Amino acid sequence: MPTINSVGKCFFCNAEFTKAGITKHLKGHLAKEAKHIKNGTSFHIKIEDDPRFGGNFFLNLWVDGEALMGDIDDFLRAIWLECCGHLSAFSNPKKKKMLTMLDENDLMSDPDEIMDTETKDILVKGMKLKHDYDFGSTTTLLLTVLEQIPVEVPGGVILLSRNEPLEIMCETCGTEPAALLCTTCYEPNSFCKKCAKKHAKTCEDFADYSAMPVVNSPRMGVCGYDGGRIDKKRDGVFIKKEKPETSG
Ligand SMILES: [Zn+2]
Ligand SMILES: [Zn+2]
Ligand SMILES: [Zn+2]
Ligand SMILES: [Zn+2]
Repeated sequence: MPTINSVGKCFFCNAEFTKAGITKHLKGHLAKEAKHIKNGTSFHIKIEDDPRFGGNFFLNLWVDGEALMGDIDDFLRAIWLECCGHLSAFSNPKKKKMLTMLDENDLMSDPDEIMDTETKDILVKGMKLKHDYDFGSTTTLLLTVLEQIPVEVPGGVILLSRNEPLEIMCETCGTEPAALLCTTCYEPNSFCKKCAKKHAKTCEDFADYSAMPVVNSPRMGVCGYDGGRIDKKRDGVFIKKEKPETSG
């Protein structure tokens, strides 16, 4: 998938920004929060899909220091990943700047222990982590700890922003948003509803099993993934903006 300028809305004020813009904007809100209250510890975490596959998908999470790493894992499963209960793990992405509080062998050798550890015992500002879901058809995510904030997060994890549904077009007609993918065809493999009906007549797999819905997740089209369990209103096909009417 090509890099497209994905945008997301702010949890606090609903304003819309690009991926880089929203991160900066949220930092401002969180700094303000920290001015008023100092009652705990929490982290602002940016989560992206593997840049090799576009890096268009993103989340900004606000996670309490007493939440478990497993709570982040649960959240990622609920919004982006869960198809049939595959295993998942956090690890060190081997970046030079990686701050290692735990060395990579610890992270790799006992993923379960990591899941049961409180975030404040693992995360520090600037740390990068890799999250893999499903060790067959793996979906890899990159986490960056942007900031540590002296504020408690009620409920453990708050979604501060996510990319709005990406502008994925039907590769046959080129004019309508794609609603379905064919996971066995190479190109075209994204179809609007109308073109999908035509594709089903020529592609046996599509009529049979290879049609998957376009959803707002880096796991789109992989294994049995057909959408998240939370924040469903932002989990579908993008809505085409009507062109402003030209008069005269
Ligand atoms: Zn805002
Ligand atoms: Zn699966
Ligand atoms: Zn079409
Ligand atoms: Zn096909």
